[in-house]
Amino acid sequence: MARYIFITGGVVSSLGKGLMAASLAALLQARGYKVRIRKFDPYLNVDPGTMSPYQHGEVYVTDDGAETDLDLGHYERFTGVSARQSDNITSGRIYQQIIAKERRGDYLGATVQVIPHVTDAIKEFALADTEDLDFVLCEIGGTVGDIESLPFIESIRQLRNELGQDRTALIHVTLVPYISAAGELKTKPTQHSVRELTSLGVQPDLLLCRCEHELPESERAKIALFCNVRPQAVIQALDASSIYAVPLQYHAEGLDAEVLRHFRMDSEGSPDLSRWEDILDRFHNPEGEVTIGVVGKYVGLPDAYKSLNEALVHGGMANRVKVNIKWIDAEIFEQDDETIASQLEPMHGILVPGGFGERGSEGKIASVRFARERKVPFFGICLGMQMACIEGARNTAGVAGASSTEFGETSEPVVGIITEWMSKEGLQERAEGGDLGGTMRLGAYEAKLKEGSRVSEIYGGASEIFERHRHRYEVNNAYRAGMEEGGLVFSGMSPDGLLPEIVERPDHPWFVGVQFHPELKSKPFDPHPLFSGFIAAALRQSRLV
Ligand code: GLN
Repeated sequence: MARYIFITGGVVSSLGKGLMAASLAALLQARGYKVRIRKFDPYLNVDPGTMSPYQHGEVYVTDDGAETDLDLGHYERFTGVSARQSDNITSGRIYQQIIAKERRGDYLGATVQVIPHVTDAIKEFALADTEDLDFVLCEIGGTVGDIESLPFIESIRQLRNELGQDRTALIHVTLVPYISAAGELKTKPTQHSVRELTSLGVQPDLLLCRCEHELPESERAKIALFCNVRPQAVIQALDASSIYAVPLQYHAEGLDAEVLRHFRMDSEGSPDLSRWEDILDRFHNPEGEVTIGVVGKYVGLPDAYKSLNEALVHGGMANRVKVNIKWIDAEIFEQDDETIASQLEPMHGILVPGGFGERGSEGKIASVRFARERKVPFFGICLGMQMACIEGARNTAGVAGASSTEFGETSEPVVGIITEWMSKEGLQERAEGGDLGGTMRLGAYEAKLKEGSRVSEIYGGASEIFERHRHRYEVNNAYRAGMEEGGLVFSGMSPDGLLPEIVERPDHPWFVGVQFHPELKSKPFDPHPLFSGFIAAALRQSRLV
C-alpha cells in the first residue's frame, strides 16, 4: 500500500521544494522503494502550456503529451521515472472538470462547493493509480497562506484523517534567514508559517529549513519546541554546490532516515548512492571546458530553458568537461555582421533552442549561417531546426524569400502550420486559428532514422527513436528536394515519411537540427546522446581554435 508524503512551502517562494521532492524520491529509490512524484499547482490556468516562459519558466512535456510544470522535469531527471499527465494537476483543471460535470447535471441537483467537491477531486487525483508504489510524493505549489492553496491544504487534512498517520507524512519547507546586522539566524518566520499550517488543521511531521549558515543545535531545539516536531525532524538544508549535490547532502542530514522513522519503517543501513557520487565527481572534477552560445529569445530567465541547461550539463558530464553556457539574445544579431562574429567567434558550439514567435528569428537564422559557414558545431532544437531549414533554403537552395507562416504571410512557406498528422491514437486534426491551449503536436512520436546517417550513429545504430514534441509548425516537405541539393540531409522522418524530424549536414563537423525536444529526456546518470555528441564535437572544436 502506497504511503503519501506531502510537501508544502512556507515563508517565501523559490525555496526549491521541487528539488527537495526530487531528491527525497531519489534517496527512497536508492533504498529500493518504488516512487512517483506529483505536483499540485494552485493557479487557475488549466495547464502551464499557454503561460509565458518569463512568467512560469519552461513548459515540461511528458511522453503522454501533457504540458506540465517544470518541476516534473526535476522529478524525471532525479528518479528516471517518466512523468505522466496524471502527475500534474492545477486548480484550473479541477474546476474545468467540476463545472463540466455540473453542466451535464451529474451532481443531481446538489450545490457544488469547494468542500467536498473540489477537495474530493484533489484527493482522487492524489490517490489515483498508485497501487504498485511504495511512496507517492505530492508537492503543493505556492506558499502556505496563499488563498489559492487553501483547498489543497484542506485535502491534505482530510487525507491524513482517512489514511492515518502511518500512511501520510507532511514535510514543510521553510526559510531560516540570517540577519547580518544581528549576526543571527532567525526562526520566527518558520514559527509563523507552521502556525499558519496548524491553523488550517495540519501539523507538519518534518521541517526542512533552508539556511545560508549552519543551524546551531539551540536554534534547532527552539524550532522543534515551538513547532511541535522532534528535534531530529528539524533538518537543515544549506545551499548546495550543485543541484546534483542535494540528494547526498539531504542524506547526510538524515532526511531519508527520518522519513522512514516517521513511517515506522527500517531506517538502518545506507541507500546505494554511488550513482550520485559519480555524477558529482564528474561535475566537480572536469578535465576541460567548452563554451556554448545559446542564441534564443527568453535568455533573461534561466528557468525558461531549464531542461536545456541541464541537458548541456549532462553532455558535459558524459565528456568530463565543464560546459559554460553563454545566453545570447538573438535580437542583437539583427544589427550587423560584426556583432555576430564578435559574439560567436569564441563559441565552441552554437545552439538555437525552441521558441515561439517572430521576434529574434532573423538573428537565429544569421547564427545558423555563421555556424554553417564557419564550420562551428551547430545544434538546432524545434524552432532551431526550423531556422536551420529556412537558412538552408535561403542561402543554399536559392529560395530567397523562405520563411515560416508563424511569422506572418509568406509566399515561400518552408515552415508551415499543419492541421493534420498521424499519432498513435489516429489522425489528429486541428482548425487553423483554433484554441492555443493543448492543441500542438505534443508528446512522444516515433521517427525513422536514415541508415548510415550521423544521427543513427549518435543513437547507437538505432533505426527508430521516440522523442517528445511541442510545436504547431513543421518543415514543409515540398521544399525538401531543393534543401537536399543545398546539402541538408533529412535523416529522420515520421513513420509515414511526411514530417521531417531531423536534418543534418554531412559536409560539416557537426550540424544537426531536430524537430523534437531531446533535452526533456536527458538525465545526469543517462545523458542524452545528442547532447553528449554535441559537447564532444564542441570539445574537438575547442582544440582547433
Ligand atoms: N514555434 C514553433 C512551432 O510552434 C517551434 C516551437 C518550439 O520550438 N517548441 O512549431
